[in-house]
Amino acid sequence: MIKESKKIWMNGKFVDWHQANVHILTHTLHYGLGVFEGIRCYKTQKGSAVFRLKEHVNRLFNSCHIMQITPEFQPDKISRAIIESIKINRLDECYIRPLVYLGYGVMGIYPKDSPVKVAIAVWPWGAYLGEEGIKNGIRLKISSFTRHHVNVSMTKSKTCGDYVNSILAKREAVFCGYDEALLLDTAGYVAEGSGQNIFIVRNGVLKTTPLTSVLEGITRNSVIAMAQREKIPVKEVNFSRDEVYIADEVFLTGTAAEITHVREVDGRIIGKGKPGPVTKKLQDLFFNIVKGRNKSYKSWLTYI
Ligand code: PMP
Repeated sequence: MIKESKKIWMNGKFVDWHQANVHILTHTLHYGLGVFEGIRCYKTQKGSAVFRLKEHVNRLFNSCHIMQITPEFQPDKISRAIIESIKINRLDECYIRPLVYLGYGVMGIYPKDSPVKVAIAVWPWGAYLGEEGIKNGIRLKISSFTRHHVNVSMTKSKTCGDYVNSILAKREAVFCGYDEALLLDTAGYVAEGSGQNIFIVRNGVLKTTPLTSVLEGITRNSVIAMAQREKIPVKEVNFSRDEVYIADEVFLTGTAAEITHVREVDGRIIGKGKPGPVTKKLQDLFFNIVKGRNKSYKSWLTYI
């Protein structure tokens, strides 16, 4: 279960954790048209810092723009509210969940006059796929569910309802004894995990899927930037599931999942079954960056 914190920001005001409620006829609750973000704040030697706050808030507003939802708050106000939320809850490290949703008022599918609401919750949340997953790797299963096609739902937006597809895939994977699902796109190429982008390493080249039908992951973007600086060749190309099977290394990236090594896919051990040199290098670099120990990337951190 979630670790509770004290206050949640709702539409400009802080309310007690257990008072952060909505009406049962909240439009988003019924039809899924709402957008959200997932952000992390890490403890550093100079206090707590939010990782790539600007990019996350920017993606939240892009999601709103795609979905034609207009919050009454500007990006600046949301960024400040995020920082205030961390401060008021006195958290060193936390996960941050901004949500823009359609409130109570209209019940038809056409949401023209639905009030637009915004909430920000923060709470302590450790490694999403477990510390063990980060260190020793997780087991993936190719999902029987296909990832969204760009003209079924638009994949540049983090839309609430899109996550039903993720839940179905994740639940199936866990039911079959795996840790996480890997979804293919409608053409049959590898797309992404239920909430993570994927990278593979073959012959020293780092490959990740193009952004066609996957979320523009901020961790993905960070990993590409880090790899380029480390002179690791990176390619954004389509690849098939069997190329994942024969990769030397595989890892998933995401705000919740951070950089998680994959040791097995569909019963095939990946490489030597242990984090390989590229995964290890990028993991170490990533955790040093988020914990404020690498000055070259200090522009990625917003101190509280
Ligand atoms: N794909 C999906 C479907 C996701 O939900 C997430 C998590 N936001 C990601 C990829 C990774 O994105 P990020 O690195 O920005 O968290």
